[in-house]
Amino acid sequence: MDFDLSESHLALQQRVRSFAQHEISPYAASWDETGTFPTDVIRKIGELGIFGLPFPVKYGGQGKDFLSVVLAVEELARADVSVAVTTAVAIALAGMPIDRFGTEEQKEQWLVPLASGTCVGAFGLTEPEAGSDAANCLTTARLDGDSWVINGQKIFTSSAGNDLSAFVILTATTGIRPDGHKEISNFIVPRGAPGYRFSAPFKKMGWRASDTRLLTFHDCRVPASHLLGERGAGFRQFMATLDHGRITVAAISVGVAQAALDLSLAYAKKRVTFGQPIAHHQAIQFKLADMATEIELARLMTYKAAVLRDRGQPFAHVASMAKLFASETAVRAADAGVQIHGGYGYLDEYPISRIFRDARVLTIAEGTSEIQRTVIARRLLSDAGHPAESTSVGKQSADRAS
Ligand SMILES: Cc1cc2nc3c(=O)[nH]c(=O)nc-3n(C[C@H](O)[C@H](O)[C@H](O)COP(=O)(O)OP(=O)(O)OC[C@H]3O[C@@H](n4cnc5c(N)ncnc54)[C@H](O)[C@@H]3O)c2cc1C
Repeated sequence: MDFDLSESHLALQQRVRSFAQHEISPYAASWDETGTFPTDVIRKIGELGIFGLPFPVKYGGQGKDFLSVVLAVEELARADVSVAVTTAVAIALAGMPIDRFGTEEQKEQWLVPLASGTCVGAFGLTEPEAGSDAANCLTTARLDGDSWVINGQKIFTSSAGNDLSAFVILTATTGIRPDGHKEISNFIVPRGAPGYRFSAPFKKMGWRASDTRLLTFHDCRVPASHLLGERGAGFRQFMATLDHGRITVAAISVGVAQAALDLSLAYAKKRVTFGQPIAHHQAIQFKLADMATEIELARLMTYKAAVLRDRGQPFAHVASMAKLFASETAVRAADAGVQIHGGYGYLDEYPISRIFRDARVLTIAEGTSEIQRTVIARRLLSDAGHPAESTSVGKQSADRAS
């Protein structure tokens, strides 16, 4: 077991940290205040090769491992969560399924521009009536000649409607399987496809500089070649996609929690009460110590999930554990950070208040904490020889967890 990052990982971490400090941190508060999607910075991140990190060089990527993605996303999140989310979605939710399941033609058409950093993509799984229970997909796709005709809605889709958005990968029901369950397939739908519309961005509590919308498909027609991989493989594909996505949300959470600790530590050294900096009060020291300890644990779990994935070992349950623990750590760290800042932590002009709002959704997006616990419990029970179907941990809900 080696806890040290390699020279090349450290160099990447340093490069992204320096970029984030100069190009992101000074502007994050104003993007948040105005709800501005930072197109130019996202474009620069693409130019730095970050979207292409885990993809093969022949498709415009950098040929690096997933730990590199984690390190980059963590550093971006430390500066601004919205930028980190946009980057993570482009890599893990849009690029990864095309790399893993796409045809040569699809990789040329969609992965190459994304990995080269000229566009971003989106992943539309959640529907108004299907969030945690994502397999209850009401969106349909019907084969008509050599086109698929898609009808339905996707909600909360990140990165589908900004100036750099090129496509959304969506799940749709394409029939009923012999076992009575829905047959789910995934499709790549380009921006501008006839019958595809998106709403104005949602106004949100946090992640305000990220692009989150309702997508509507009304007799939306795409060529048959836009089916991702095989018909009926959509369920397996989205579960595999979420496994990667959860590692990136864990990395974002570590970055957010670290930002809360950085701010709190600096503030505690400056703020004086009863004749001494509050950092000298044991109650404040304990809060800082708990934050640092949990962040260290969350970081180790997140890196472990990425390393298991890079070694080709099973990593889904560790990704769920990392996502669960890191996201809850971020929420706790942001809360403790506000407490350490006292009344000033409640003012918009103090960045800890933005971090508090940004942290909150981390326990919801890409599978809620409840769903992560369900996935983990199911694994425990099956390891112990008690399949989840025979217990209160339902197989379907665990399977379907988005
Ligand atoms: C800012 C933002 C960005 C997002 N980006 C994307 C995106 O890019 N693509 C995408 O597809 N989705 C995206 N989502 C959607 C997100 O993944 C869902 O919101 C999440 O999976 C929960 O689904 P839901 O909101 O429908 O909640 P529900 O499924 O309705 O859950 C409501 C509550 O019930 C609990 N619950 C549900 N079922 C169970 C169960 N079986 N056992 C115990 N508790 C249960 C949940 O944990 C939750 O607390 C985004 C959401 C947000 C807020």
